Amino acid sequence: MNAYICPICDYTYTESTGAAREGFPPGTAWSSIPDDWCCPDCGVREKVDFTLVAQS
Ligand SMILES: [Zn+2]
Repeated sequence: MNAYICPICDYTYTESTGAAREGFPPGTAWSSIPDDWCCPDCGVREKVDFTLVAQS
């Protein structure tokens, strides 16, 4: 599972955890998240701006 971080606010999306408030259950792959999804914390950056931070 991978983790991706927002370059602006450091919000991190972890695939194994998911993001319940965003409607992504645990185990949701990054590839399954819509390309137009915006960072839930800052709302400024979109999926394409996130950076891979952890890989396991
Ligand atoms: Zn952000």
